[in-house]
Amino acid sequence: MNINDFNFAGKKAIVRVDFNVPLNENGEITDDTRIRGALPTLKKILADGGACIIMSHMGKPKGKVNPKLSLGQIKDAVSKALGVPVAFAPDCAKAADAAAALKMGEALLLENLRYYPEEEGKPVGIDKEDPAYDAAKKEMKERQKEFAKTLASYADCYVMDAFGTAHRKHASTAVIADYFDADNKMLGYLMEKEVKAVDNVLSDIKRPFVAIMGGSKVSSKIGIIENLLGKVDKLILCGGMTYTFSKAHGGEIGNSIVELDKLDVALGVEELAKKNGVELVLGVDSVVCNDYDFASASVKPGADIKVVPSNQIPANYEGLDAGPESRKKFCKALEGAKTILWNGPAGVFECDDFCDGSRAIGDAVAKATAEGAFSLIGGGDSVACCTKFGLTDKVSYISTGGGALLEAIEGKVLPGVAAIKG
Ligand code: AMP
Repeated sequence: MNINDFNFAGKKAIVRVDFNVPLNENGEITDDTRIRGALPTLKKILADGGACIIMSHMGKPKGKVNPKLSLGQIKDAVSKALGVPVAFAPDCAKAADAAAALKMGEALLLENLRYYPEEEGKPVGIDKEDPAYDAAKKEMKERQKEFAKTLASYADCYVMDAFGTAHRKHASTAVIADYFDADNKMLGYLMEKEVKAVDNVLSDIKRPFVAIMGGSKVSSKIGIIENLLGKVDKLILCGGMTYTFSKAHGGEIGNSIVELDKLDVALGVEELAKKNGVELVLGVDSVVCNDYDFASASVKPGADIKVVPSNQIPANYEGLDAGPESRKKFCKALEGAKTILWNGPAGVFECDDFCDGSRAIGDAVAKATAEGAFSLIGGGDSVACCTKFGLTDKVSYISTGGGALLEAIEGKVLPGVAAIKG
């Protein structure tokens, strides 16, 4: 079913949203992008004369109740954004009465789905090597179905609008869809928009296509990097992951972040790029520091910051940002791009001393966009970069998904989409 063709009048809709918003130590929302992202769907349901049962996860409570990750903390913000009072069900699996009491035009927010291990459907407290693991997994899958059935029982129809978790086959993102017929389940507006943005990049690639992959680890991005090497004209690699490349070539990288068991993976990426005729763009210099505190995202008093070649980083120093020559190289590579995908910062952008690399990339992406490129930004940190540098209106599309976006770009069918579209 298409959400535009569905009339919610008189219906209770259970909507999976991604309200996994960042909170500060006082439980206040520091970025409400995800709440705003879900509003078109929720408002359509209410405007039609329906009722919303809103469900989400927050953080990683690992199947246990954790008040720090309670969605109760954001109830008032959701209510304010929606413009209607929002009731709260403090146990998502025991919300039948609250759902039954819900009147049309009202909304009910369920407590964090991941307080229940059934949401993710992974057996708890048992190692994969344990001979009893398979039986435990089977049992958990049955419990997951029961959990999904309970959630489904609250509503007349189901809307999947949580792109950020659409790559997971969880009770609320996929399994629940089995309990609704095709006419009563659909993707929400945000999901439709996200899926269209990916299609825009993949189905009709305007060249040159330049991808920028940054962030801390090669290992978490290798799937997408290999996949992109079959699609892009240029691949800019930046951020902490590039020290694994320097090291693989025998460079001195001091204390920089590195994955020593991935040196061959880095060399493999270079070989594949060559084979596919993709220009691999790596930084040449780094901004390094000898006393940076990751926990407080600050440079310790008296610490030294300087620029050195990325393969000659002194012992006791670590590379934390792209140096000026690298920035120039990245910006040059983005000149004239017609399709751009950016995932992952070029440095520790959270600290103002090490955000220039990410800022330079952001500015170059904005410039290319102004000259006609389609730019797709995904992953929490690249989105945070765009916000920090005031670029949100200067790029084509900012995705709410990190892992989900990358898997979609890899060409994988997301379980959250498959559950609706079959
Ligand atoms: P990821 O989750 O892999 O996309 O990585 C994002 C994180 O990478 C951000 O929190 C950055 O601070 C971090 N990062 C970027 N460059 C570096 C670097 N050179 N050293 C350590 N961390 C980095």
